[in-house]
Amino acid sequence: MRYISTRGQAPALSFEEVVLTGMASDGGLYVPETVPQLSHDDLAAMAGLSYAEIAFRVMQPYVNGEIDDETFRTIVTEAYATFSHDAVVPLNQLDANHFLLELFHGPTLAFKDVALQLLGRLLDHFLKKRGERAVIMGATSGDTGSAAIEGCRHCDNLDIFILHPYQRVSEVQRRQMTSVLADNVFNVAIEGNFDDAQAMVKASFADQSFLNGTRLVAVNSINWARIMAQIVYYVASAVALGAPHRKVSFCVPSANFGNVFAGYMAYRMGLPVERFVIATNANDILHRTLAANDFSKQELKATLAPSMDIVVSSNFERLLFEAYGRDGAAVAALLERFQAEPTALADAPLARLRELFASHSVDDATILGVIREAHHRTQEILDPHTATGYRAAERERGEASVPMVTLATAHPAKFAEAVVKAGFPGVPLPPHMDDLLEREERYTVLPAELSAVQQFVVDNRR
Ligand SMILES: *Cc1c(COP(=O)(O)O)cnc(C)c1O
Repeated sequence: MRYISTRGQAPALSFEEVVLTGMASDGGLYVPETVPQLSHDDLAAMAGLSYAEIAFRVMQPYVNGEIDDETFRTIVTEAYATFSHDAVVPLNQLDANHFLLELFHGPTLAFKDVALQLLGRLLDHFLKKRGERAVIMGATSGDTGSAAIEGCRHCDNLDIFILHPYQRVSEVQRRQMTSVLADNVFNVAIEGNFDDAQAMVKASFADQSFLNGTRLVAVNSINWARIMAQIVYYVASAVALGAPHRKVSFCVPSANFGNVFAGYMAYRMGLPVERFVIATNANDILHRTLAANDFSKQELKATLAPSMDIVVSSNFERLLFEAYGRDGAAVAALLERFQAEPTALADAPLARLRELFASHSVDDATILGVIREAHHRTQEILDPHTATGYRAAERERGEASVPMVTLATAHPAKFAEAVVKAGFPGVPLPPHMDDLLEREERYTVLPAELSAVQQFVVDNRR
């Protein structure tokens, strides 16, 4: 199995290379050249297996023998042992046929842990094998940074530098990052906003000479291994609900489209899925594209579901590649137009997408109403991201006999502001985190200057 670029120009890579590489050199994203298949019997044989064993079976073909089975099984088992629920991603039944897939039982209480607990360990494995070290740099306004730090804190061959805007992330989010005191973890508070932090990370990737040859690695959702890890919970939850004998539908709170693209891969592997419902907040490019064929950028809106605040949905390119029949030149041309001006998809690819995907956009006022309504109906307190999913699922549900699985992407305690706005007194952190606000913190405040940040990285990497 090789990995190819969605723009058709970059060289094909092995699994190891694709884990260590972010974006393809032609500006595209890597996808597997062929899609491994899960047969009816393969799926039936997963009934009753542990999450880690299902994860091993789903991901093993993508790893392509580049890690021996025993070592890969150990990596997977250790990654998911960090979750506080024995089922790793438990299903919670809300009504006769609507389920929440709780993806927030990992170390930082959001679904990004599922991918980053695995990615850190994969990177460490390959670097050790090569006798190399690497530096990770990332900018965060919240969820990704803490999940990346938790995923890498035990990785001897990695040093991780996460930039966040000084005094502009919530206390819980900041402390989830800054209370990790491992020797290889460096939190930098930038005297600027998120865009300043992001721009410095981008500039560092564009010109890596300041690192004198040390590899710089990205852990954002363009990394294929993150998508791969997320395929697993679609398979595991569908099997728990009766696959391969029964179809399911999924509703996914979406931003950069990494999560729902993983679901699409599960479908392509042979999982019987009736449809995917894409939920967005007011930053609704995915909904506008699918519903009105309006593929255009609009100004960023700050919402109550901040981890879904995006202008461009980076992983949507992977789905476009499939919708355009894997024509890399057509995808490159479309995205070039999109960068310059509002555009639209061609008729045939759009029709193909509409057969499988529905979408719904949920504004802030509705998010608050949904948190109250869902509590009234089910006794559950939803986080604001999950609330967009709950609403979209109720609105876009197809066949009533097909189970609808809404992905719960964060624990409500992590986004207590919205929960309080909805009229609840707040949500306590889970027991293993209830001392978070007392833990020692460590971070360095730096000016929003590229040279200062790069010097800090050079001085502190081990
Ligand atoms: C990152 C994130 C999302 C969006 O996921 P994508 O893969 O970017 O579509 C939704 N909810 C929460 C809580 C997140 O952290």
